[in-house]
Amino acid sequence: MKVTFRGVRGSIPTPGPSTLKYGGNTTCIEIRTAVDDLIILDAGTGIHALAQRLDPKLPIQAHIFITHTHWDHIQGLPFFTPIFRPGNQIDIYGGLDPVTGEGIERCMKVQLQYSFFPIREAELKTKLSYHTLLPGKTVTAGTASITPTILNHPVLNFGYRVECDGHSLFFTGDYEPPYNIYQPDEPDHNEYQSHVDAKLAEVAAAMANVDALIVDSSYTDQEYLSKRGWGHGTYRSALTMAAQANAAKLFFTHHEPGRTDQELDRLFQQLREENHDAPFQIEMAREGVEYTF
Ligand SMILES: [Zn+2]
Ligand SMILES: [Zn+2]
Repeated sequence: MKVTFRGVRGSIPTPGPSTLKYGGNTTCIEIRTAVDDLIILDAGTGIHALAQRLDPKLPIQAHIFITHTHWDHIQGLPFFTPIFRPGNQIDIYGGLDPVTGEGIERCMKVQLQYSFFPIREAELKTKLSYHTLLPGKTVTAGTASITPTILNHPVLNFGYRVECDGHSLFFTGDYEPPYNIYQPDEPDHNEYQSHVDAKLAEVAAAMANVDALIVDSSYTDQEYLSKRGWGHGTYRSALTMAAQANAAKLFFTHHEPGRTDQELDRLFQQLREENHDAPFQIEMAREGVEYTF
């Protein structure tokens, strides 16, 4: 299993001299199986650079799994240039939108209107196939199998476990671990805590023993104080997750748009020092860097 980060930034693309090292594109991860099946997790702006690499190799088959439909995870889809060439096969997977009741096809239908984009979906040359996924139900894409798990975020967000070639990866998309909204002396505290504990156990089981755990680590503890409930995790919550899941390697991603290379370097050094005896390795996800598992 080869994994390449194509976009590691959260919320908004941040090109410029202060993000050259880690990259400024929003979320996109490329996975290649041993027989070269192409699985793409999320279609932030990072998918455009991937498309540039694919264009000389057409026709291609791509399986694109969308964690959720916030802009930073879908904005690159209309710029995934293989959709404009005949003969490619593009499958897009995602969850059911709880508000509209529509499947993942909505993320293209909404973007490909003249109000937002100059080309309509009917004009695309490649046939797109949409697949609505159910939580916990495994699907196959080439030689890989992918299982979605609902993770806490303000919109339906699937974390994906990807298995292929005897290896495994879990990507959270955007995820704030659930917490008790009641104080210990309030009557609903204990019942709510049992729901939180059950959900955390379900998530840990979905991530169990992966080779690579890629986690939304948007905030420091200090930043989180004013951003609780915004749907994102912290470096600390990612470390806890990796320990509970018995992951071999933890990647911090969804870097804050205002975080410079220098700040990410400093944070990484600090995290490495604080966690030198952790039973897993840690890495800052960095655009363009490939890992083999
Ligand atoms: Zn995001
Ligand atoms: Zn989001």
